[in-house]
Amino acid sequence: MIGLISATAAGAAARDRLAAAWPARTRVYDGPVADAVRRAFTECDQLVCFLATGAVVRLVAPLLADKASDPGVVCVDEAGRFAVPLVGGHAGGANDLAREVGEVLGAEPVVTTATDAVGMPGLDTLGLPVEGDVAGVSRAVLDGEPVVLDAETVWPLPALPPNVGAPAGDGAAVIRVSDRAQGPAAREVVLRPPSLVVGVGASRGAPVEEILGLVGEALADAGLCVRSVAELATVDAKSQEPGILGAAARLGVPVVTHTAAELAAVTVPNPSEAPLAAVGTPSVAEAAALVGGGELLVPKRKSVRADGSPAMATVAVVRRPARGRLAVVGLGPGARDLLTPRATRELRRASVLVGLDQYVDQIRDLLRPGTLVLESGLGAEEERARTAVAEARRGRAVALIGSGDAGVYAMASPALAEASDDIDVVGVPGVTAALAAGSILGAPLGHDHVSISLSDLHTPWEVIERRVRAAAEADIVVTFYNPRSRGRDWQLPKALAILAEHRKPVTPVGVVRNASRPDESSRVTTLGSLDPAIVDMMTVVTVGNTATREIAGRMVTPRGYRWQEESE
Ligand code: SAH
Repeated sequence: MIGLISATAAGAAARDRLAAAWPARTRVYDGPVADAVRRAFTECDQLVCFLATGAVVRLVAPLLADKASDPGVVCVDEAGRFAVPLVGGHAGGANDLAREVGEVLGAEPVVTTATDAVGMPGLDTLGLPVEGDVAGVSRAVLDGEPVVLDAETVWPLPALPPNVGAPAGDGAAVIRVSDRAQGPAAREVVLRPPSLVVGVGASRGAPVEEILGLVGEALADAGLCVRSVAELATVDAKSQEPGILGAAARLGVPVVTHTAAELAAVTVPNPSEAPLAAVGTPSVAEAAALVGGGELLVPKRKSVRADGSPAMATVAVVRRPARGRLAVVGLGPGARDLLTPRATRELRRASVLVGLDQYVDQIRDLLRPGTLVLESGLGAEEERARTAVAEARRGRAVALIGSGDAGVYAMASPALAEASDDIDVVGVPGVTAALAAGSILGAPLGHDHVSISLSDLHTPWEVIERRVRAAAEADIVVTFYNPRSRGRDWQLPKALAILAEHRKPVTPVGVVRNASRPDESSRVTTLGSLDPAIVDMMTVVTVGNTATREIAGRMVTPRGYRWQEESE
């Protein structure tokens, strides 16, 4: 919950705009300001104060305890011009909140944390638990000192500046990525990747404390860190076992369950008869921990009960294989403000970027310094797909980019055809050319519509022609991608001729070249008078259906066919 506090009428007006924009996320704190800030500080995750920074500094100073748990506080001036993250920039999310508030109120976010200013990801913003001297090591990174990156556990980190990754040296600051219990030394931060899977078997009614105690002992004896536990894994039959659910809740991790048949198929070092009889697999703890592969660090181990009665719980611990991350990111048609915020985030989340050189140029300024850019020229699609997947398999965070939507006549399919289930794949949709063009032309896609690529490089012309004919017969609006190039000039006239067998010469046709790019141009013409020579590979061509009309220079396809019946 975000607490909102204001003092004056002007502040209250800005406050109310924010409250109206985010009704479910915000709560207004009325009354004397000092009291309102105090209440909000204890009750909310974040505060937005429509007050001078000086006033807020004095009010929150006595309340501050720990940057890991204090709420993030954003100040907005009464005129709503600036949103200043005052405390909790990273851990409290105040930097992000200031940007969001900025978007709603039209205010400029004033972000002053150093790592943001130089484009370096804050060490406490990587989504991993972090221990040690965050401030000192961040300082060393920012000052350009050699900083050692000791990645004991492979984890897909975003790009770090070039001075990170130096060979170990006396007194150098260290960033360690590790699931081993060993805590941070001086001038060291340790990031805890979610690399451990704890398999759990339990008799009915096994107490939470018994399971938690056993997990703790198993990790401690093996020198492993509890903050790296990703999940508790068990058999389906135990999915509602209160002891397992309670232990997972206390550890703050999910319970993941598998069928007995899946577990029975896993080869384990210590099978036994008891679970086979009870739940249908010779191993629960070891098999559930190992089912996704990985290295068995702690073989099955039983709890020891003080009164000597039989153990009610077993656990086993596995370090799962590193999983790289492949983000397939659509950049939109060209204009920066048609690039989604999520796409920007993914570009900045990556340490490796793969793409066509002209698309890389489109977003190069957004990449974090130190991002490895693997760009190639036109036509190297298969190679780009293979490279992106291979880099992700090495455990890296990869962004594979495409213009428009990366899934539309673009890189997503060749990449996912290469990918196996040992990497995480994230898709980010983009504004595809047909949509960008549609909004320029008017409303040509108001009813059923289809995209057809006229490129016969990968598709035999007979197939393309059959699809054009089907669209023509079904009276569907058609957008042609890849409509015409120097070496491919007869396909577009041929396709238009097929449509003309079913649509009148006056049918509106929209031609949009370089949608949302600096030299954008567009025109609405007709099926009878389109000159194919104005069309090239930077263009999409949208042909209306029999109901589409030109109205005030805009192309409009009605949402239903009543209009068509009336007009005929
Ligand atoms: N993935 C892209 C399409 C790639 S195919 C997308 O979703 O938009 C390449 C074709 O897309 C080009 O030949 C052209 O027909 C069309 N195209 C891509 N961007 C365009 C733009 N900004 N303006 C007009 N057409 C565009």
